[in-house]
Amino acid sequence: MAREYPFYCAGEWRTSPQRLEIRNPYNDELVGVTFNATEQDFEDAVTAAQRAFEVTRRLQSYERAEILLRLAEGLRRRQEEFARLIAQEAGKPIRDARVEVQRGIFTLTTAAEEAKRIGGEVIPLDLMAYSQGRFGFTRRFPIGPIAGISPFNFPLNLALHKIAPALASGNTILLKPPSRDPLTMLTFAELLDEAGVPKGAVSIMPMDRTVGDRLVTDERFKLLTFTGSPDVGWDLKARAGKKKVVLELGGNAGVIVDRTANLDVAIPRIRTGAFAYAGQVCISVQRVFVHRARWDEFVERFVEDVKKIKMGDPLDEATDLGPMIDDKAARRTQDWVESAVAEGAKVLVGGKAEGRFFQPTVLVDAPKWHPVCSREAFAPLVVLFPFDDFEQALAEVNDSAYGLQAGVFTSSLEHALRAFEVLEVGGVIINDIPTFRIDHMPYGGVKDSGLSREGLRYAIEDMTELRLVVFNRV
Ligand code: NAD
Repeated sequence: MAREYPFYCAGEWRTSPQRLEIRNPYNDELVGVTFNATEQDFEDAVTAAQRAFEVTRRLQSYERAEILLRLAEGLRRRQEEFARLIAQEAGKPIRDARVEVQRGIFTLTTAAEEAKRIGGEVIPLDLMAYSQGRFGFTRRFPIGPIAGISPFNFPLNLALHKIAPALASGNTILLKPPSRDPLTMLTFAELLDEAGVPKGAVSIMPMDRTVGDRLVTDERFKLLTFTGSPDVGWDLKARAGKKKVVLELGGNAGVIVDRTANLDVAIPRIRTGAFAYAGQVCISVQRVFVHRARWDEFVERFVEDVKKIKMGDPLDEATDLGPMIDDKAARRTQDWVESAVAEGAKVLVGGKAEGRFFQPTVLVDAPKWHPVCSREAFAPLVVLFPFDDFEQALAEVNDSAYGLQAGVFTSSLEHALRAFEVLEVGGVIINDIPTFRIDHMPYGGVKDSGLSREGLRYAIEDMTELRLVVFNRV
């Protein structure tokens, strides 16, 4: 009998008649059973979030920090259990799943630190004769109940990027975990009570589309924070009414390897950036632009390196590459590769689906308009292009509907600074891959890749409202 995972609603564990079977993408084994919340559960969770907000908004900084540290401690105590659950329900190789759990602990710990640093500033106001004697200062106030929606690819850490800053800033939150792998966050909910999170301040509930849609349209939420695919994200924003919206969406990240790049560093890093978690990462390396003087060496060594990637059971310690999340994802990748080949692309390695696995794939000569280049592949797939001029390479990276992060491998300070100036992205990563992220850094995209930034301190800015007080010295 598979274990049942009730959901956590308004401080209570609940089930519903709407069962959700969660299967391991590697072998279809049943990992667990959970339930979609009903309209009534939703209503109860929102009412509880409003009520709990009257408590959380009054918590002192040290109290919010202590709650977050206790959550971090709870996660640390059960870290291997969480890593194995992520490996099983998301099909993520266990070594990567362990990294995700470590990152989750870091996210909570950093949020605890940030809870103590939500300050303001003193504003001199005696700038004109008529305002003489005045001064002001600002403080940030929590905005109220938050709606969070998180994606399947980091089922723990990307949900914590919503819950942790919400608690740090004195807010309450109703989180909808991904329907494909919700069990990790339902297990996390077991830590809330013992950490002292006020009842009702955090609800974590899977929902079907109809109920989930109320996270978008219900005016009692003051912020919708969504991480997921661009099409869904922009559609939700259009329907979100007066609430603030934060969108953390996808991309087709580009990397430049210039004439002066250190290939001993660039090649293994790009391999990691392109194939970690089967490329199902929003900042996965998809397009690599290599200076023609380094092209032959890069291509030969990179392909050799990619051939060493070991596909297998996510729970096997030796596995580098697990299955894709579902059959549809593997089939779509196969269609894209076949269509690119029909348009003149060459497969240097990989190119085929094996059941739900997709072989690590390297393409050259793909037309730039083709989806393997121009859309988000979200698959273990990378396209290489040669370039002659650094400015041309920068323009190629920018020639995209997306703009999350970009990487530049170079020994030239001038190139590094030029890239920072010109690339239309949220982050430029020098001598590393766009896939680099540490959880306190400002992270987010421009263009179709999103709106605003996450990374604790930055998320807290969106979750709080600036208020000014003006004093007149009479
Ligand atoms: P998705 O858009 O299919 O789903 C994301 C979440 O939204 C899930 O919880 C899903 O159940 C929910 N959802 C889907 N349609 C909805 C609707 N109409 N109303 C309410 N909720 C809805 O994305 P996914 O497949 O889970 O994740 C992959 C995508 O997420 C990729 O595009 C990836 O680039 C992006 N992503 C972005 C970041 C980032 O921080 N920028 C991080 C990870 C993933």
